[in-house]
Amino acid sequence: MFFFFSYGPKQKNLGIVKSILCDVCGQFGKYEVFVIYNEFSLFFIPVYRSARKYLVRMTCCQTVFELDGEAGRKIERDERVAVREEDLTLVKRGKGVTKCPSCQSDVEDHFLFCPTCGHHLHEEHRE
Ligand SMILES: [Zn+2]
Ligand SMILES: [Zn+2]
Repeated sequence: MFFFFSYGPKQKNLGIVKSILCDVCGQFGKYEVFVIYNEFSLFFIPVYRSARKYLVRMTCCQTVFELDGEAGRKIERDERVAVREEDLTLVKRGKGVTKCPSCQSDVEDHFLFCPTCGHHLHEEHRE
């Protein structure tokens, strides 16, 4: 007799809840909400699910926040709920993009020097 079972993380996209001006990269982005949990299933029937964790990802720069569980459950039940900044905990800061002042190419924020022309990107601005 065969046993079909699987155990692994599941991820479900709950959709986009809000458009905001992003603090991290300074562009307009959207909050995209995900729920993740581990699921153990037997014969394709889920028999166990771990605690759910709600995540918000910014569509602009892929910054990831953890969303307060209460707010997350409401979104999952399709209740209209405003996601407030105090419900979010920063998990992973996304890559912001800056323009190199010397050669105008787009450079990811975490670079210290421009990969195109070698310009030092984080020196203080002088008028
Ligand atoms: Zn952003
Ligand atoms: Zn450059």
